[in-house]
Amino acid sequence: MMKANYGYADGSGQYYITLDTDKCDGCGDCVRACPASVLEIVPNEFDIIDGGDIMSVREEHRKKLKYSCAPCKPTTGGGEPPCVTACPHGAITHFLSSAKGQVM
Ligand code: SF4
Ligand code: SF4
Repeated sequence: MMKANYGYADGSGQYYITLDTDKCDGCGDCVRACPASVLEIVPNEFDIIDGGDIMSVREEHRKKLKYSCAPCKPTTGGGEPPCVTACPHGAITHFLSSAKGQVM
């Protein structure tokens, strides 16, 4: 199983968005669900044999995910973010890895 990881940290802790590239079929539901246009569909470079398309975090958002994803990150109390709930294959996770002050 291949995983793509996109991490960010803010005042509350360290977060990760992960994509299980084997589960993702590039349907684009998460892209349409994201209110901040963070995601896009790109050629699957993790699987050079079967190819296809997968979700990716847009280059311009990778260094500023703490701002882009702030409205719907997992600790805001709104439940799972729209990208996670939109995925019909359960390919995306978005979680708090370590709260601020926790030893990593
Ligand atoms: S957490 Fe929210 S802003 Fe971030 S990628 Fe998912 S839907 Fe978009
Ligand atoms: S909704 Fe799920 S399967 Fe569809 S592109 Fe996004 S991550 Fe991939």
